Amino acid sequence: MSFAATILTLYPEMFPGPLGISLAGRALADGIWSLDCVQIRDFATDRHRSVDDTPAGGGAGMVLRADVLAAAVDHAVAQFRPGTGRGTREAGGGGPRLREPRLGGEAGPLHHPADGPPPRAGEELSVPILAMTPRGKPITQARIRELASGPGVIILCGRFEGFDERIFAARDIEEVSVGDIVLSGGEPAALMVLDACIRLLPGVMGATLSGVEESFDDDLLEYPQYTRPALWEGREIPEVLRSGDHAKIAAWRKLMAEDHTRLRRPDLWERHVGARGQPASGARQKQKDQGT
Ligand code: SAH
Repeated sequence: MSFAATILTLYPEMFPGPLGISLAGRALADGIWSLDCVQIRDFATDRHRSVDDTPAGGGAGMVLRADVLAAAVDHAVAQFRPGTGRGTREAGGGGPRLREPRLGGEAGPLHHPADGPPPRAGEELSVPILAMTPRGKPITQARIRELASGPGVIILCGRFEGFDERIFAARDIEEVSVGDIVLSGGEPAALMVLDACIRLLPGVMGATLSGVEESFDDDLLEYPQYTRPALWEGREIPEVLRSGDHAKIAAWRKLMAEDHTRLRRPDLWERHVGARGQPASGARQKQKDQGT
């Protein structure tokens, strides 16, 4: 199934940006994922097309209006179609709408046989709606895996001082942070979340990713990597990696992953240790083995 991303932004020209290049760019051209950008300003109702207003209670900056955001979100949800080119052309505000339908034809939502059973008439398509905000829950690789295995995502990018708080509950929006830093807008954060999802989509990384352990699987950081030359500026690649003894190498890597995590990320380490031996960790391992 094709993964559909809809970005709600005041700067649609920022997309696909870096995601039009390399792996993600090729996957976009191949129709593995699709991108629609919705210009939030197109949903302003006053003659100045304003999307923001001064903060209630006073203070610096401007706040994005809940009514304008809600209209944009409702539009994006109504238009959302995984596995098809979706018709946001009229509301795109000149933003990119890069994906053409995989199968030709005029009729509404197109369904590719590879996408599994088509949604039945009247069946609501549930797509996660994320808002990028430093006040959100920090995104994790586990959440990225969930998102990547779904139909796609709608991402709301903030600007100025952020969103009117009421929008989150009113539209069941998940507030997501990409870390304890403050960006000038949600667009780079949305690009990060999308990039992380796209590389997990089947066919994007080829066979290389499946079964390979990565940082954050099982709440561990990856072991250190090396490549030739074996001796560089007086620094050697660890002996064990040149031994050809696969069991020894695997044991060394496990130890290094554990050591690095314990020293650099006590928060992850605590979770890793906490999950070990409990039924949940077995389930996670099984999930990982299946590449989901
Ligand atoms: N005044 C706000 C910051 C607004 S930054 C505060 O102190 O919380 C402007 C916009 O950038 C936000 O609305 C959000 O969309 C985006 N942004 C900034 N930092 C972010 C982060 N760490 N994660 C996700 N989005 C972020």
